[in-house]
Amino acid sequence: MKTYRIATIPGDGIGKEVVPAGQRVLDVLARASQRFGFDFENFDWGGDYYRQHGEMMPADGLDQLRDKDAVLFGSAGDPDIADHITLWGLRLKICQGLDQYANVRPTRILPGIDAPLKRCRPEDLNWVIVRENSEGEYSGVGGRVHQGHPIEVATDVSMMTRAGCERVIRFAFRLAQSRPRKLLTVITKSNAQRHAMVMWDEIAAEVAREFPDVSWDKEIVDAATARMVNRPASLDTIVATNLHADILSDLAAALAGSLGIAPTANLDPERRYPSMFEPIHGSAFDIMGRGLANPIGTFWSAVMLLEHLGEPEAAARLMAAIEQVTADPALHTRDLGGEATTAQVTDAVCTLLQGGSLRQAA
Ligand code: NAD
Ligand code: MN
Repeated sequence: MKTYRIATIPGDGIGKEVVPAGQRVLDVLARASQRFGFDFENFDWGGDYYRQHGEMMPADGLDQLRDKDAVLFGSAGDPDIADHITLWGLRLKICQGLDQYANVRPTRILPGIDAPLKRCRPEDLNWVIVRENSEGEYSGVGGRVHQGHPIEVATDVSMMTRAGCERVIRFAFRLAQSRPRKLLTVITKSNAQRHAMVMWDEIAAEVAREFPDVSWDKEIVDAATARMVNRPASLDTIVATNLHADILSDLAAALAGSLGIAPTANLDPERRYPSMFEPIHGSAFDIMGRGLANPIGTFWSAVMLLEHLGEPEAAARLMAAIEQVTADPALHTRDLGGEATTAQVTDAVCTLLQGGSLRQAA
């Protein structure tokens, strides 16, 4: 029997609620499969760790993750610590340190979810956004000079490398090729950002020649927001820079019904290092510690984790259970307009995975 070594990093806020829920679901799935198992190791990194040690994770933290098969992550963000410290000290440190350069965000309107777009049928919205996850606007290059003086200056330099653009665009073409519509939209802003984004466009056109069976087009990022709302069915696979895709994917999550549902994978496609799977939402200070967090985003991330490990059947079983649960309004959490708790949703998914029915779970 294959045993996968998984690191769990709940982090902060509702991460501490949804990651244990995700671990429980994976355990139930493994026991039901009798084909594979999980060896979980939990890491208590995040805001509390920072208060004790002055850093979000230990200096050798990346080494502790290196031999894992995957990482299940919650959220980094603490009400009492500045966001750039929590984000850079934990999540970005892992993503960049393990060169997880492709951030993949599938978006669909799941059964039973009341999405905000009036004329959008569920079949009209089936996207995967690929976000460059290692450089660009979030390279961390820049600085501040003359702090506190009237002549204070601050810069954030977007670093775009040919190699970095090429690898993520090629990944996106490959992903588009694997989907039924074979359709890729490359997001750009080369009208206003006339150096790096022009190179990005050139590289897209070059890589496109390797994929004659994929139809592709270009869209300026601001126009892309309108297209997502007005013509959602015209999109399938989307690739964008770090900042552009960060913004577009929150819009995508909202259009699909809730931030609480959306999953993401931070992939090292070459598998030199473990990849990391997490819900896209943050720590949700307003509801943390109250058992109200929607765990579906974490469960869907677990589906992506299983696909990455090469367990497509288990992934499909979990996705089917998720969709059966979202289809039942009695199992909707507050973000979806319901009253169910994290525990009730988790119990329902576990019951289904064990071969039970939702009637028994209720
Ligand atoms: P957020 O995602 O934490 O919350 C936004 C809103 O959505 C809140 O009203 C929240 O209650 C709701 N929400 C989010 N996830 C939910 C869930 N699973 N179930 C029910 N409701 C849910 O975004 P924010 O408020 O902008 O950020 C809060 C903190 O989280 C900040 O410190 C931020 O830096 C951090 N953050 C971290 C990550 C990450 O680690 N990947 C991502 C986003 C934000
Ligand atoms: Mn974001």
